[in-house]
Amino acid sequence: MKAEDSLHQIAIEVAACTKCILHHSRKNAVPGEGPPDAEIIFIGEGPGFHENEQGRPFVGAAGKFLDELLASAGLKREQVFIANVVKCRPPANRDPLPDELDACSEYLERQIQAINPRVIVTLGRYSMARYLPNARISDVHGQAMHIKGHLIVPMYHPAAALHQPSLKTAVERDFAQLPEIIAKSAEAPPINEQPDVEEKAEPKQLSLF
Ligand code: URA
Ligand code: SF4
Repeated sequence: MKAEDSLHQIAIEVAACTKCILHHSRKNAVPGEGPPDAEIIFIGEGPGFHENEQGRPFVGAAGKFLDELLASAGLKREQVFIANVVKCRPPANRDPLPDELDACSEYLERQIQAINPRVIVTLGRYSMARYLPNARISDVHGQAMHIKGHLIVPMYHPAAALHQPSLKTAVERDFAQLPEIIAKSAEAPPINEQPDVEEKAEPKQLSLF
């Protein structure tokens, strides 16, 4: 199936999904959006109030900040794919629960498979944990690592950074490094020639970063 068709199919399934309790409180599911051939995916946590109203990711205050961060890295929202680890809004914006993350995981996995991006930027702890389950975000933010055939770049969540000046400085600095990381990723070996680091204790870090 073409990437575009797969993404469309996933969005239809997400809109009707009842696999976890979050479907009870959603107004609109938020599957994610962006071009099927995006080279870079940003993965957040879950929809908030405005996202639930509109069915689109990162359209509230955190989204406005994300747009600024993207612009600072020379990226337009239209050129990247933006998604979340859970597709329905947790009540009162609470953290997603383990069984909700588990239930929703296959949708994001299929989106990543369909798009096959070179670079995946995780925003916050929950999306980072998909690739670096034992890492502390304060230790690894801004560092690019080859994991499961993609270049993973963990970043602080823009919503957290909005309220904490030290995190705001850190996330702005990390985004400023993104153009160089993206350029470097273009020189990396093709995905099928990269070593599978999944079973190794430490993910391989790019020497440059
Ligand atoms: N925060 C997220 O993690 N995702 C959104 O879509 C909006 C805010
Ligand atoms: Fe389904 Fe994910 Fe929504 Fe849960 S959060 S109902 S798993 S789409």
